[in-house]
Amino acid sequence: MTASEVHRASKARSEGKRSAQRAAGERSSSGRPSGVCWLEGRIVPADEARIPVRDHGLLYGDGLFEGIRVRGGRVFRLDDHLARFAAGAKALALELPVALPDVRRIVLETVREHATPDAYVRLLATRGEGPLGVDPIPCGPARILCLVDSISLFPEEKRRRGIDLVTSSLRRPPPDVLDPRVKSLNYLNNVLAKLEARTRGADEALLLNAAGLVAEAAVANVFVVRSGELRTPPATDGALEGITRATVLELAHALGIPACERSLGRFDLFAADECFLTGSGAGLVGVRSLDGRPIGAGTPGPVLARLEAAFADACVSLGTPFDAA
Ligand code: PMP
Repeated sequence: MTASEVHRASKARSEGKRSAQRAAGERSSSGRPSGVCWLEGRIVPADEARIPVRDHGLLYGDGLFEGIRVRGGRVFRLDDHLARFAAGAKALALELPVALPDVRRIVLETVREHATPDAYVRLLATRGEGPLGVDPIPCGPARILCLVDSISLFPEEKRRRGIDLVTSSLRRPPPDVLDPRVKSLNYLNNVLAKLEARTRGADEALLLNAAGLVAEAAVANVFVVRSGELRTPPATDGALEGITRATVLELAHALGIPACERSLGRFDLFAADECFLTGSGAGLVGVRSLDGRPIGAGTPGPVLARLEAAFADACVSLGTPFDAA
């Protein structure tokens, strides 16, 4: 087959798939609605959204993103996500092409179009199109896109029994290499750590920083409970300033559970009564083992259970209803 024949065949295949999807009322094979994407002022089925190959987000990972959860018809902590997005854009000297209130409108519009009470929002800003070469100066304007889709990071059965972690052989880059507080499109460190964990039969990776202290998991923050106290590493040890993490710290204070940010080593996980991860995608998920050794009782613990119940309420009180918005 020549290159143009290959192109024609693949185009025919994807057109067939699209018309099948339309015939099925925009439902995916799983029966769930397919994702939708805001791009250049239009919301289209996610399968149809395309960006040009000269976008530096694709060529160099030059850009940033947010992962935002929609639960029970509400967008969780939308303004906090937007604030982190804006701070990350500043750190990358990336000028957002629209003002933050417009980004907010884009997110809510796309979530409304998706019309599903539980979903995941992937908001992206790329440096935009430019000539080949890493230089961001000739690029732009920056491109915004907002994908709303379903997500399931861990199967229900694993969430119930607790997930298995392994310590990654990769270290989290120090802030003077690539600041982990910026949710940049450069996620290879996370991808390779996750790959290593999965190929070693675990669910998720524990990443240490260059000093050997716990930074976070591949795509989630880490908490331990020891002697009734909740502890999580400071962001300066190599963690993202997680929105779920901040919520858990606030809920702990409200519930009277002592909680603090402090540096942790692997020792602190082995010695912990409980360990769990937090993230927009992961939610709150208990850890049952690290490197093949059980943590605490080897099942999700009672402090996590209390926080989960409070978190479910927080999803209502801290969520923006997208129908009314
Ligand atoms: N760390 C990393 C590297 C992540 O990708 C995520 C997921 N966004 C988190 C932590 C958790 O952050 P949040 O609670 O804001 O989703």
